[in-house]
Amino acid sequence: MSLYPLALRLAGRRVLMVGGGAVATRRLPALLAAGADVVLVSPGLTPALRAHADAGRVAWLERRFTRSDVDGAWLVQVAVNDPVAAAEVSAAAAEQRIFCVRADDRDAATAWTPAVTRHGPVTVAVTDDGDRRRALAVRDLVASALEAGPAPGGRPAPGVALVGAGPGDPELITVKGRRLLAAADVVVADRLVPGALLSELRADAEFIDAAKIPYGPAATQDEINRILVERARAGQFVVRLKGGDPYVFGRGGEEALACAQAGVPVTVVPGVTSATAAPAGAGIPVTHRGVAHEFTVVSGHVPPDDPASLVDWPALARMRGTLVVLMGLKNLPAIVDTLIGAGRDADTPAALIQDASTDRQRVLRGTLGSIAAAAAAAGVRPPATAVIGEVVTALD
Ligand code: SAH
Repeated sequence: MSLYPLALRLAGRRVLMVGGGAVATRRLPALLAAGADVVLVSPGLTPALRAHADAGRVAWLERRFTRSDVDGAWLVQVAVNDPVAAAEVSAAAAEQRIFCVRADDRDAATAWTPAVTRHGPVTVAVTDDGDRRRALAVRDLVASALEAGPAPGGRPAPGVALVGAGPGDPELITVKGRRLLAAADVVVADRLVPGALLSELRADAEFIDAAKIPYGPAATQDEINRILVERARAGQFVVRLKGGDPYVFGRGGEEALACAQAGVPVTVVPGVTSATAAPAGAGIPVTHRGVAHEFTVVSGHVPPDDPASLVDWPALARMRGTLVVLMGLKNLPAIVDTLIGAGRDADTPAALIQDASTDRQRVLRGTLGSIAAAAAAAGVRPPATAVIGEVVTALD
């Protein structure tokens, strides 16, 4: 006999979950996401379930199941290993004509939970009459197909999404960023965006390379803002793809403002920033227990003695924690001198990471006192990120 697929509206409706172990832990979040009013019956709970109970997201009855627990439930989930106990729950549910999912015995259950993948507004549920593994495999196939292309019928509304592309490895974009990118009518990309991401654009998507806009930097930014606003107003969904995180030294804020001022809807999809990913790529944690309780990210594009500098370098020199400098390669000698001059120990470990997370990644290690000369000697080129602090040798 074939199964009859169905999607349930559980918001505000009671669901009884019997069991407090690993299966219940995995099944509970989807029920909560559906707004179900979940009652958990179990003498004990996993720490994750306990956290849900403590936060009041579920009601917990700290005891074994009794038949009257099924009263008033729209659905029963049995997440216990013991077949005798499970059979008792499903018998009580059946008596009241309540569908019952059983983790211990699919064939004895009156309902099955499908293998699920969610993709924006689309939910795909897969069941297989005999073989759970096959359902999971099909689900994974569908999930990767949806990730690689626009959701059918899921055309996004006109507007702009500022999407972080990550530091360089094309796999370090977020799932949401990749989904929006695949759905874009127009993509405006920066120089530092991983090239491989661009091969996945829709064939009919317009591609604008922001690095090729032929003006000075300020005029270029105005032109980018103008393009974003104009395309969105023309009814298109525009993805502004930016290296790392859009709001970390990426002028993402200016673009968001320009859109907002023009009445164009903007969403921001954060990205993996090179401020943490570049150190990670070199095996350096920006914080480490007992070593650093802070990390500070600064831009080094303005020399420390320049009146236009907004960075308090002497204050940074007094810090014990980790200092991460972006866009600082050209000014590295002046930055190092300023930090040492203001009291930071010249022997503080330091590293420079070029092209982090790509197959061109280079790592230079040394000390605050030696790193600038070493960078010049080794011919380090942008993009490069400097890390200064004891964390540089924390994992050595
Ligand atoms: N929004 C970006 C930063 C833009 S500023 C982010 O969040 O990562 C550009 C600077 O980022 C570069 O000068 C360099 O310091 C750093 N950077 C970007 N990509 C990098 C990479 N792959 N490796 C090392 N540093 C990188």
